[in-house]
Amino acid sequence: MIRHVSADFIIPVNGEPLKNGIVSVDEKGEIIHVSTSESAETISGHIEHHKGIIVPGFVNAHCHLELSHMVGKIAPHEGLISFLGKVINERSSNEKDILHAMEKADRVMQENGIVAVGDISNNLLSKSVKQRSALHYHTFVEFLGFDPDKAELAFENALSRLREFAPLSASLAPHSPYSVSKELLKLFQKNKEGHAELTTMHNQESDEENKLYRYKNGKLLDFYQKLNINIDFFRPKGRNSVQSIIPLFPANQRILLVHNTYTSLKDVYFANRFNRDIHWCFCPKANLFIESRLPKIEMFQFHEFNITVGTDSLASNDKLCILSELIVIKEHFPSLSLIETIRWATINGARFLGIDHKYGSIEPGKTPGLNLITNTDGLELTAGSEVRKLN
Ligand SMILES: [Zn+2]
Repeated sequence: MIRHVSADFIIPVNGEPLKNGIVSVDEKGEIIHVSTSESAETISGHIEHHKGIIVPGFVNAHCHLELSHMVGKIAPHEGLISFLGKVINERSSNEKDILHAMEKADRVMQENGIVAVGDISNNLLSKSVKQRSALHYHTFVEFLGFDPDKAELAFENALSRLREFAPLSASLAPHSPYSVSKELLKLFQKNKEGHAELTTMHNQESDEENKLYRYKNGKLLDFYQKLNINIDFFRPKGRNSVQSIIPLFPANQRILLVHNTYTSLKDVYFANRFNRDIHWCFCPKANLFIESRLPKIEMFQFHEFNITVGTDSLASNDKLCILSELIVIKEHFPSLSLIETIRWATINGARFLGIDHKYGSIEPGKTPGLNLITNTDGLELTAGSEVRKLN
């Protein structure tokens, strides 16, 4: 049975917005046809009309499902170093509670119109939730280790966790420039099993990371001391972290750099010049929660980069909702249009995850999911905009 849905606007993402356009979709969610209002008379059958904007299902490019039980456990605005210490100390809980929280978070993401997730995992706990979920997950099995002497052990551990995630879609991902040694990244670069197609890394979420790489000072030094990590081996590089790290990634791999809160124009030029397929992910609500600051989003937009959007985890966000992230972007960068940011939240994430044959735009043959955004102002979001899944 074919269902015909219409709204004040459809943003199909692969083309111009359609005023009063109509999407015809079958019972499996496959898009059969996208019509303009002028061709409505050729449609036989009832057309459901909604107030608002229809957009494709959202892609959450950065999440940590396994931290879902930490909602409300960490106080906001204390900076990344304090936040990390608290995640390390307070993340343990009983397995049943963690599983229950993940299942709930998975359900809420679906209700919020998310169809696919790039998810960071440090352990196997999320595997069963992902296997049962209607969402598409790509798991980034995270590895870390700043001590060069322990690089081989850290890498072997990561590879065995990666194998345990099979047959789910998964690949390895270094945690961040300040938690992965050059030696560990070189093992990653050399190992074909470990660096399949796509990877991700937290990048410049705090300025302390740049201070470490530029001058070997700042709060990260105390952090290592508390964790008993000797960093005598580390030599400052006189430039921001991302410039030292990008060359260590394997070639021919899509790399998603997440946060980029303290990324400079010089860093962006460096990344541009270097022969790597770099994608950028913004998690604005988590940035405001942890560092009370946002990345220079317009600087990236100006360069027409592959921008994606993520929620980060419930340790640093009150909900896993891509629309809420877009509302925050709109509040802080009013000149950005919804037509632009919807691309970031749909097709760009789908392309990065390699699932754009199915997700990311409202086109015949795809099953992207259909979201209705209500409380809109013409083709723009308002502070009160809400999302509802139509399909
Ligand atoms: Zn994260």
